[in-house]
Amino acid sequence: MSQILEADNLTKVFQTKDGDVRAVDGVSFSLEPGDFVAIHGPSGCGKSTLLLMSGALLSPDDGTVTINETDPYSLSAEARSAFRGENIGFVFQQFHLIPYLSVLDNILVNELAANGSSDDDWPLQAEILLEKFQLGHRKNHVPSRLSVGEQQRVALARALLRTPALILADEPTGNLDPENSQILLDHLGEFAAGGGAVLMVTHDDRAREAASRSIDLS
Ligand code: ADP
Ligand code: MG
Repeated sequence: MSQILEADNLTKVFQTKDGDVRAVDGVSFSLEPGDFVAIHGPSGCGKSTLLLMSGALLSPDDGTVTINETDPYSLSAEARSAFRGENIGFVFQQFHLIPYLSVLDNILVNELAANGSSDDDWPLQAEILLEKFQLGHRKNHVPSRLSVGEQQRVALARALLRTPALILADEPTGNLDPENSQILLDHLGEFAAGGGAVLMVTHDDRAREAASRSIDLS
């Protein structure tokens, strides 16, 4: 079976002035198409560090990450960044939307920054995602005009724009009310059901129940 993500013996030790902090110690797991996995455990147990290593954003001190059969840490920084863009979408508790850009331009922000070619169809893809997330009527608004639930769906649309294989989410429902949490979880579940994989850090029992499997880091 082809894995989307394979994490083998992932380990991270931060050197601080007060000594070494072993944030993640030998964690292994794998995600196949269709997997929706929750990572849970108390604050400080290494969840975010594990997610960053899994997302080609923080190199492990030991162990390996393989995403779609590539070890992203074997790539140059530039190639790794491009690899992330093609394979991984990120969603965080803070939505990280740009306040002065419209909803539509927020979804397209990475493509705008990369100065996409004129024959690309990213704007059309973005509009399709906006319709799907019930945000079509919001595309010309700035994020502050939207509810927090809507803002997180904009962040999810931005993550999905390039149809990544993998979504990594860190406390994605942390700022949402129960109704908007459920909408977001339904969209993540739908992404996995369509053959993607989701790895989600969460404190939220509802989010954990929405996942098909969970990893306890405590
Ligand atoms: P969680 O997301 O489960 O709350 P984190 O992965 O953020 O936990 O952090 C795990 C441990 O590593 C904590 O003790 C935290 O203080 C420490 N840590 C995280 N990032 C760094 C860093 N850049 N430098 C030093 N220590 C860090
Ligand atoms: Mg964290």
